Amino acid sequence: MGEPIVRIQGLQKSFGGLEVVRGVDLEVERGEVVVIFGRSGSGKSTLLRCVNMIEDPTAGTIEVAGVRLGGGHRTRRKRRQIRQLRLHTGMVFQHFNLFPNMTALHNVMVGPLCAGQGKEAEIRTRALDLLDRVGLADKAGEHPIRLSGGQQQRVAIARALAMHPDVMLFDEPTSSLDPELTGEVLAVMTALATDLHMTMLVVTHEMGFAREVADRMCFFHEGRILEEGPPEQIVSSPTRPETKTFLDAVL
Ligand code: ADP
Ligand code: MG
Repeated sequence: MGEPIVRIQGLQKSFGGLEVVRGVDLEVERGEVVVIFGRSGSGKSTLLRCVNMIEDPTAGTIEVAGVRLGGGHRTRRKRRQIRQLRLHTGMVFQHFNLFPNMTALHNVMVGPLCAGQGKEAEIRTRALDLLDRVGLADKAGEHPIRLSGGQQQRVAIARALAMHPDVMLFDEPTSSLDPELTGEVLAVMTALATDLHMTMLVVTHEMGFAREVADRMCFFHEGRILEEGPPEQIVSSPTRPETKTFLDAVL
């Protein structure tokens, strides 16, 4: 395999005296799908938020596509590097976070427009392509409030893709959806992995998806990766009792 596209080294993150991420080393290869799972409150979201520097690490470093950042004050240079790093990442949140006053199409166009990535007509064409890819070509003119949760999340995925990320970060993308809507979002994510070979770091408890799509699963426990491996091994024969207890609860 080549150079990793994401390299997390010695990552720690505390809020006041609360140590949330307690020493994480993780490398993700281009095209790899890594699933992170573990109890609520174990620090999964914080880890993902550090990867695109929504949170600044307390210690350790994050490197995405060769842009390497650590803790310390947000100097002008650092802010520039953060913008640089975010050009390489797309993030999808649990609660969609679409712009409510914009149509689906505009939600997908706004990033490239603001970044000055080409002519408006080209950006529109590509946004329509992306909406088509997530199965929403016919909803381009709708505002988020007129869309189901599953449709909103698919727009959010198209919006993240519009910036041509090297890595997609998903933070429990289906956990605020009604069960009957999770399938359509997981299907889009599966297609991203299998058709586009998108590099993805996914926090999810959807074990069916993980088994089918992940190259590697990491069990996150109290701020650390306690155990990792290929899905069949992690799901069928975990070595750590904490992993087994968790899996017994979700499967
Ligand atoms: P998970 O995603 O695994 O549920 P989180 O990363 O959201 O876990 O949270 C881990 C812990 O960090 C929780 O105890 C949470 O309350 C705390 N935490 C997360 N973000 C902040 C913050 N901005 N300020 C203070 N505490 C936080
Ligand atoms: Mg979380």
